[in-house]
Amino acid sequence: MRIDKLLSNSGYGSRKEVKKILKNGSVLVNGEAVKDGKQHVDPEKDSVLVFGEEVQYREFIYLMMNKPAGVISATEDDRDETVIDLLEAEDTIFDPFPVGRLDKDTEGLLLITNDGQLAHQLLAPKKHVCKTYFAVIEGNVTEKDVVDFQKGVQLDDGYVTKPGFLNILKSGLRSDIELTITEGKFHQVKRMFEAVGKKVVYLKRLTMGPLQLDDSLQLGEYRELTEEEIDELK
Ligand code: URA
Repeated sequence: MRIDKLLSNSGYGSRKEVKKILKNGSVLVNGEAVKDGKQHVDPEKDSVLVFGEEVQYREFIYLMMNKPAGVISATEDDRDETVIDLLEAEDTIFDPFPVGRLDKDTEGLLLITNDGQLAHQLLAPKKHVCKTYFAVIEGNVTEKDVVDFQKGVQLDDGYVTKPGFLNILKSGLRSDIELTITEGKFHQVKRMFEAVGKKVVYLKRLTMGPLQLDDSLQLGEYRELTEEEIDELK
């Protein structure tokens, strides 16, 4: 990979800052000063020293965010703030992106990474990765809805959903529920409730595969995944 990318991914600043470090001869690759950011190095084999210190290279970053409502799960947008805008500059150097989408008004667990292979695995329909949501529903959610969701409901475009597991936490004029699904169709949870004549008024994702939202994260906060969490995901 290019030496400038390796250095910015390793915490030596933006590409522009890295260019300066290279220019003043502070970077040695296998003992030789390298000044051209385009030069390729092999992080596994080459020795890279910056100001005399060995570079500890890392390729991937894995972040868990408690997404707030009002921001969109995209890398950039002309109008709205994105989840990437909420990251510290030192984390954006890795060019991370959100794994899948949560609606603008949905809160909760969002994985942000630059590991495309892992993202692909988690999103591939064939993998049936479970996602659990907490929702507040306008209307009385009943045992019939539990059965209907278990069988699969027909969405507005005719698609019949795979079994969903509905757990009623509180029923009444407004109901609190948890729903686990293995698919990720556009607005799926909202459209599943529409299919049974009810409306989602609040939605929060709690889990994605083995990953659980860390309760200690306030809305908009994020942290790196632990080694164990990364191992479980892979
Ligand atoms: N289902 C929805 O309707 N919205 C989301 O953000 C996620 C799942």
